[in-house]
Amino acid sequence: MSSSLRNCDSCTACCDGWLKIRIDGQEVRQGKPCPHSCKTGCRIYANRPQDPCVEFVCGWMTPDSPFPEWMKPDAAKVVVLYGCGTWRGLKVDLAVPVGRIIPQGSLNWLRNHASVNTRPLIWTENERKNGKYTGKQSVHVYGPPEFQQEVRELFVQHAGDAMGILRAISLAPAIPPSRPHAA
Ligand code: SF4
Ligand code: SF4
Repeated sequence: MSSSLRNCDSCTACCDGWLKIRIDGQEVRQGKPCPHSCKTGCRIYANRPQDPCVEFVCGWMTPDSPFPEWMKPDAAKVVVLYGCGTWRGLKVDLAVPVGRIIPQGSLNWLRNHASVNTRPLIWTENERKNGKYTGKQSVHVYGPPEFQQEVRELFVQHAGDAMGILRAISLAPAIPPSRPHAA
């Protein structure tokens, strides 16, 4: 959680295991929320760790955020790591569901935002078997065809880890895309 003109209030979407983080040396992952997370927010808010808690700002909380009120992560069921990567000079956003999948309305908004602002988008879906999350995810892309191809090629190499894929494409040489943003 971080501070901006907006407030997290009772949202704990980035604390409840949808993003893989470490708190007090313990892994926080799907099915294993941060032990400090409660219905009203963070129990140790004033003393929360600097990294990642103070430093992390989701897209909805970013100063001058383009996200509408209804896209608050606990309501829209998606946490967006806004501009957390780059591809050929373009900002790339990563959207992670709060639950198994991102609801269609939220996904439509994200795809439209990606298209209008020429921001390639990666989003994930979480695998669930027998009522339990397996920790595996599928990765989906929206953006120029070359971007989609590069992400697909990196999927196996990075064992489906969206952050790993994002880091890899961000390190690639900044060749301008040959076509405008497209699905
Ligand atoms: S997902 Fe965003 S709004 Fe929700 S707790 Fe985290 S930083 Fe705050
Ligand atoms: S310490 Fe607080 S802010 Fe940090 S992940 Fe846990 S509940 Fe969230």
